[in-house]
Amino acid sequence: MKTYKIALIKGDGIGPEIIDEAVKVLDAVASCCDFDFSYEEALMGGCAYDITGDPLPQETITTALNSDAVLFGAIGGTKWDNLPREKRPESGLLRFRKELGVYANLRPAVVYDELVNASSLKPEVVRGVDLMVVRELIGGIYFGEPKGRDENRGWNTMVYTRGEIERIAHQAFKIAMTRTKRVCSIDKANVLDVSQLWRDVVTEIATQYPEVELSHMYVDNAAMQLIRDPKQFDVMLTGNIFGDILSDEASMLSGSIGLLPSASIGARIGVYEPIHGSAPDIAGQGIANPIATISSASMMLRYALGEIDAANKIDNAIKRALSEGYRTKDLAQYDAKEVCSTSEMGSIIANYSAKCKH
Ligand code: NAD
Repeated sequence: MKTYKIALIKGDGIGPEIIDEAVKVLDAVASCCDFDFSYEEALMGGCAYDITGDPLPQETITTALNSDAVLFGAIGGTKWDNLPREKRPESGLLRFRKELGVYANLRPAVVYDELVNASSLKPEVVRGVDLMVVRELIGGIYFGEPKGRDENRGWNTMVYTRGEIERIAHQAFKIAMTRTKRVCSIDKANVLDVSQLWRDVVTEIATQYPEVELSHMYVDNAAMQLIRDPKQFDVMLTGNIFGDILSDEASMLSGSIGLLPSASIGARIGVYEPIHGSAPDIAGQGIANPIATISSASMMLRYALGEIDAANKIDNAIKRALSEGYRTKDLAQYDAKEVCSTSEMGSIIANYSAKCKH
């Protein structure tokens, strides 16, 4: 039997509560599959600073690099807000992503039928939305040189190399092959030279994936189309800053931040984490929604471990829990038949995930 090594980074605030539920679900699904998990916990964020004086101890990087994948909760909290920037929990997370070289950020936006009323858009616009933003994460204007400011000017540089575009484009096309085989590449090629290179390289890479239909869209139009008719999109491929903005916009289609997973992947180990933060305002109360983290665990099975059946079991179990009316407090006003705690929601999804086909 295969045993996958998973590095668990629970972090701060609600991090430990939601990771515990994801582990419960992973163990449940493993109980009816031919693989198992071994977990190693590692510290990051405020809790790591409190114990070691560093928000990202070297040991955590080593643990992550020796694993098959990282399941991450969330870090941060007001307790650490006044530390010098490099000691703050958020600096630990940025350093971590860089150390692991995770250049592709995958953010699915799925609207569950049962929660169409939770979206700020009309039900008929969001019902059936199932798209994936593939955002380049460690290049572009956030990292380009030169950058700087003086009293009267500030400047940053948006730069992409052919290699950076090629590798993120491959990710997007590979993901599209597992979905409905459509990639829309978002850029600003009508104005920016860097975007024209982006468009040319993406078009070249597309020839290696003849089954995938490629289209291009300017980012300003894409921002509008996401709200007008989000169902037209399958995979949205884009650079760092455009992806930052569009993925936040896409995330609001589905209603609650407690539902949304993400994956950050690169050449080596991937990091699977909810998009939300450590929610210090609700930590320790047992009311956090664990679905974003459980769904991130499903992405880990799908993208890091290639266990597609197991990932589908979890996704179906989440849908079933929602369709039967189970809701955590954040979604209690949307057709709840029963409002449950973080742990109860984890147990319900674990139970449904463990239903074997045979
Ligand atoms: P947040 O995402 O933690 O919380 C925003 C709001 O959403 C809060 O009202 C919170 O209660 C609610 N919320 C978040 N997750 C929820 C869940 N699973 N279930 C129910 N409700 C949920 O954002 P914030 O308040 O701006 O930040 C809090 C801390 O988290 C800060 O220190 C910030 O730096 C950090 N942060 C960390 C990450 C990360 O670890 N990746 C990401 C964003 C923010």
